[in-house]
Amino acid sequence: MAVVEILKYPHPLLKKRSKEVDRIDGEVKRLIRDMIDTMYDANGIGLAACQVGISKRVVVLDISPMDPQQAFFAMVNPEVISEEGEIDHEEGCLSVPDCLEKVKRKEKIRVKGLSLEGEEIDVAAEGILAIALQHEIDHLNGILILDRVSRLKREIYRRKLKKEKQREQRL
Ligand SMILES: [Zn+2]
Repeated sequence: MAVVEILKYPHPLLKKRSKEVDRIDGEVKRLIRDMIDTMYDANGIGLAACQVGISKRVVVLDISPMDPQQAFFAMVNPEVISEEGEIDHEEGCLSVPDCLEKVKRKEKIRVKGLSLEGEEIDVAAEGILAIALQHEIDHLNGILILDRVSRLKREIYRRKLKKEKQREQRL
């Protein structure tokens, strides 16, 4: 088991577009295992590889705490192929601590990608699964929830972070 550090805003890697995976080799499988351990350790429902410092298009998801009918899965090179409707949902992010923001998302999406075994998977998602998938795919494109809220809200979060840093330095 390897729990690794989760990068936090404003780490520059979180702003970068992650690269496509050419081959699901031992290295990618190890990465996915580390991501799973790290996600569960942090009580998260999803994680993208860039959040653990690896710029590859890999995500893991386990939304079963919110929707018991869903099981864990990993997806390599996920790509949204269709989308429909709109919903607002309050989201948090392991890379943006102490921040809960209402984000506009598509209500239903279809995502294609590869499984851990390299097989093609095609997921038709709605509800929490659709939201979580869009959140993680955003990470692969260098987008955080802070990029999806108003400039004012982003500024308030930045100030809060700055204050916390100053407080830490005084201790
Ligand atoms: Zn996130």
